[in-house]
Amino acid sequence: MSDIVTEKKITPKIPLNKKEKKLLDLVDDYEEEIFKLLQDLVKIESLNLSEFQYTERNEVFEFSKKYMDDAGFNANLYKAPFLSKKKNEFYYNLIAFYEGDSPGKTLQFNGHLDIVPYNPDNWDEDTPPLGGVIKDGKLYGRGSFDMKAGVASQMVAMKILKDSGEKIKGKLQMWFTPDEETHGAYGSAFMTLNHFDVVKADATIVSEPTIRKPLQSPSIGIAEKGPQWFKFTFHGVAGHGSWPKEKSSALNKAVRFMAKAKRKLSIPKYKAPITKWQSTKMLLSRVNFADFRTIQSYTGEKSPLDKDKRNTSNYYKTTFSFNVIQAGLKTNVIPDTCELEADFRAMPGLTTQELFDAIVKYCSKLKYRIELPEGYSNLQHSNPKYTDEPVDIDLSIITIGEGSSTNPNSEFGKLLQNAFGAVYKVKPIFTFATGFSDAGNMREAGMKDLFVLGPGGRNAHTANEYVDLDTLKDITKLYLLIAYRYLKA
Ligand SMILES: [Zn+2]
Repeated sequence: MSDIVTEKKITPKIPLNKKEKKLLDLVDDYEEEIFKLLQDLVKIESLNLSEFQYTERNEVFEFSKKYMDDAGFNANLYKAPFLSKKKNEFYYNLIAFYEGDSPGKTLQFNGHLDIVPYNPDNWDEDTPPLGGVIKDGKLYGRGSFDMKAGVASQMVAMKILKDSGEKIKGKLQMWFTPDEETHGAYGSAFMTLNHFDVVKADATIVSEPTIRKPLQSPSIGIAEKGPQWFKFTFHGVAGHGSWPKEKSSALNKAVRFMAKAKRKLSIPKYKAPITKWQSTKMLLSRVNFADFRTIQSYTGEKSPLDKDKRNTSNYYKTTFSFNVIQAGLKTNVIPDTCELEADFRAMPGLTTQELFDAIVKYCSKLKYRIELPEGYSNLQHSNPKYTDEPVDIDLSIITIGEGSSTNPNSEFGKLLQNAFGAVYKVKPIFTFATGFSDAGNMREAGMKDLFVLGPGGRNAHTANEYVDLDTLKDITKLYLLIAYRYLKA
């Protein structure tokens, strides 16, 4: 199957004026700088596992601050102290401004500098995870695609805007977060909670990668599901393995809970921010019908063990998967405790309380007493049948976030769509992501006009991650054009 489909060019072309053309031509001169900057960023291991296992947490921020300072921006590092007891440890957020001569709107560029773990043994020898090796037009490395490429493009776009000498009003702001991959407790959540005045902007472009092969031009992310990650602790009774306890083994309780959930756990339905019809229509405005079919069934490389088809119904409902389970001490001991971690992905509109109500009702069907974290109401509490019984399950929150969306036809949205058409010469396609980005936390804090838009590549979170270097120039042009049009004096 070909990796590329042909995209329909829009006619008539969306014009660029002389100044804009000159400005965008500058990106060609800065091409090598973008690649070099991205290589430097990839070589700094900014691995994020948890707050105790985060390598070079500060180095990647200090490096980025130096780049921004050298480019003539005054970059500030904000400290987000560890929530745990460990003293004097913190995460950085980086904020830098390019201010115009007169007041006006604030446009924000946003990205995360952390990367997910990798197993070097699975990477090809000549493209190691921290190498930043360029080969056949691709730059390889953990975080190259997700998302140091977008970050490097935005940094250079901001620099070009300043170097060009074009007058702006208002300001262009850069914000880099340290922990998007673990849902932003010290980044997007911390800053919106503690420094909202600093990070609030009139419009934001998050430069997460959004070119989805086999398309050649980016999609524009306008909505995402909310992560609702819970730990269920099942309580049971220990016993001798030779004398099975079908009902009171904590592990058996968890297994029963998982097995019946698909049919019996009923979660309130919410409408998707983009309907099936809308997404079909947008895709068909960019490619012909044969390519549309190719894209729909496109899976890339697939393991022979993978028997799951690409299930697009996930875009239209809240989903859940059980992904971590821990129980048992010894082969011949029945476990009295079992911990189960579940990953719910909530549609925009569904609240944590509604989800808890659904889970409590489901537990009642199974005749399990469940306790929720403090501050949430529990439907079983009005029923003595449960409150007189011992607790079967304690639910605790790992992280929660709401599903969120942005209206693509706001004033800024229209400016973005027009600039997109001028640079890529194709129609925009809006997408609803099942995963989260920092945009979710920012929308939850009340920020508007948040769009996710970035370069193309492959293998985010797996081996041999790379970014396609030819996508970097265009995305840099787009960031630059949006900033110029939105802020020009
Ligand atoms: Zn990312």
